[in-house]
Amino acid sequence: MSARVLDGKAVSQTVRNEVKGEVDRFVSKHGRRPGLEVILVGENAASVIYTRNKEKAANEVGIRGVLHTLPETTSESDVLALLDRLNQDDAVDGILVQLPLPKHINEARVLESINPKKDVDGFHAINAGLLLSGRPNLVPCTPLGCMRLIQESGVDLTGAHAVVVGRSNIVGKPVAQLLLAKHATVTMAHSKTRDLPGLCRSADVLVAAVGRAELVRGEWVKPFAVVIDVGINRIQDGDKSRVVGDVAYAEAAEVAGAITPVPGGVGPMTIAYLLHNTVRAATLRSG
Ligand code: NDP
Repeated sequence: MSARVLDGKAVSQTVRNEVKGEVDRFVSKHGRRPGLEVILVGENAASVIYTRNKEKAANEVGIRGVLHTLPETTSESDVLALLDRLNQDDAVDGILVQLPLPKHINEARVLESINPKKDVDGFHAINAGLLLSGRPNLVPCTPLGCMRLIQESGVDLTGAHAVVVGRSNIVGKPVAQLLLAKHATVTMAHSKTRDLPGLCRSADVLVAAVGRAELVRGEWVKPFAVVIDVGINRIQDGDKSRVVGDVAYAEAAEVAGAITPVPGGVGPMTIAYLLHNTVRAATLRSG
């Protein structure tokens, strides 16, 4: 048996087209483009690529994407001052601070300083709390992307057992909340979980957000399960390096009903939902 591949590239293009339609409607109603400001502090190579891609993707769907590139030595108070200015600027709908920040900057303090109504990453405690209390406002992008791919798989989540491996605030916890809201029975697993293989084998939907290359083996997967692999891990393969997920793809694809590849699965969905969140923030603020 070979699983159906959940093609994140194709689905993310559909989401981008949907967002473009919403941007056009917003522009004709309000006479301005939704604005997304992306802040990068330092020169982390991956972050430079991610932030450029976000700015480019925004402009491609008609969002006014602006990238602020600040030197590694920027002080926390200067970052907070920039956030303050953007928080108050009515033309700015979404603000994103690229993580990780340099060590001398307090990440929590910075994230909590973003106006929750402009928090398109959905990391602010107010947005996390609203999601937890069943009144989602701005929800983290990667979990939204996971849910869209799960929807594409056609699985009925009501009463299904969903196992989420990983309990980060960015992926694991919010994806578990979204699955719960869709009436799945959700188990969250982490590094202290006993018998992780046995637990995973009981999952109708298995979400791996761990950051350990190919941790989840084929024999951990329940036949016909939906497997969502969030992991992005660079491994050395001879003298070349390549990116793999948290799931041993070839093995798991033999057992699963549907599976996301890495790359080309969850990854492209994250940017698509950042654009979605920007238009949502703009619409929630401006009507
Ligand atoms: P974190 O490092 O914040 O969290 C990892 C989680 O995995 C923790 O809860 C940890 O448990 C758990 N864990 C670690 N080792 C094991 C293990 N051996 N068995 C079971 N659980 C384990 O990672 P993130 O959530 O930020 O990211 C996870 C992965 O997803 C990474 O590869 C990251 O690059 C990728 N990612 C991909 C995105 C995309 O767009 N596709 C976006 C965001 C992340 P504990 O809490 O006990 O330490």
